[in-house]
Amino acid sequence: MRTERTQATTEALRKAAAYLQNHEVVAFPTETVYGLGADATNEAAVAKIFQAKGRPSDNPLIVHVHDSNQIKYYTEEISPMAQQLIDHFMPGPFTIILKSNGQVAPTVTAGLSTVAIRVPDHPVARALLKESGLPLAAPSANVSGKPSPTTADHVYDDLQGRIACVLDGGATGVGLESTVVDATGEIPVILRPGGVTKQEIESVIGSVKLPKPLKETAQPKSPGMKYNHYEPDAPLYLIEGDKAFFQQQIRRYQQAGHKVGVLASSSLIEQLDANEKYNCGNHDNLREVAANLYFGLRYFNHKSVDLILSESFPAEGIGEAIMNRLAKAATDRIKNI
Ligand code: AMP
Ligand code: MG
Repeated sequence: MRTERTQATTEALRKAAAYLQNHEVVAFPTETVYGLGADATNEAAVAKIFQAKGRPSDNPLIVHVHDSNQIKYYTEEISPMAQQLIDHFMPGPFTIILKSNGQVAPTVTAGLSTVAIRVPDHPVARALLKESGLPLAAPSANVSGKPSPTTADHVYDDLQGRIACVLDGGATGVGLESTVVDATGEIPVILRPGGVTKQEIESVIGSVKLPKPLKETAQPKSPGMKYNHYEPDAPLYLIEGDKAFFQQQIRRYQQAGHKVGVLASSSLIEQLDANEKYNCGNHDNLREVAANLYFGLRYFNHKSVDLILSESFPAEGIGEAIMNRLAKAATDRIKNI
């Protein structure tokens, strides 16, 4: 299949909507990362997402709709707490899990009784939802297990030849995926930290819960939690220690004959000496680090490094999502004890 790559003009959007109506898959920008969309009500269309990504079939997809008023078409009753979350955080980098009414294709929910729904806040995503008139099941537009795409180049690198079309809308804003919140119980549970922080949710709803660590849960609440994710080609190690410790680790690997890539914030990285370096922004502005993170992980795929050493960031605010992704991307942590 030839993959059409095009700027998201009015004409391109019309064409992309037609692909979707014909049960093809289309990659498009959202404010979090690029998504790979298909008609969420059509089983054959949704199957093409799983096929293109090599995604395990028991990992369900988020359904994207144009307007939060459409959520009721795919769910059982919406509790007052759920409605409050919807009113505050949609559109935006926020996904709500509610009881499904069975209107989306069964593979979208991977057979679960719940459905995950989001209203994106990006002009191209919104225009595509409107033009197609469809709810779009859309995971990140990367090969399963790789870092999510934040540019059309990333999508093209991973999926050319496997999908009908990539709409280019420039680099995404948030740069990390949405926060996934299970609102089926009395107290909401954050299943995946993301663009909306725990503090922001708590300021609206009072306390929220975090899921139990995986070891304790035989059946993860969010099936995606059990898979490897976000992995660059070279193994990544998270460094926990100061500048001197970081430089020591770089030297240790270099002396063993390895080429070392370093991913760190500006003030630290200028003081480190390595084979390749990626500056992911200002340490005091973790939103900037989040926006650059996946770009940084993919940067090293085009450099000949044997391993990547990454700075650890404070797991607060958006830092919680950053550290969640880095911990999953990492082979191990190296601590200064
Ligand atoms: P992705 O589409 O790759 O950004 O990942 C979507 C995330 O939402 C994955 O971690 C899924 O497992 C999770 N998810 C989607 N639908 C549900 C659902 N019905 N219940 C729990 N988690 C879900
Ligand atoms: Mg993904």
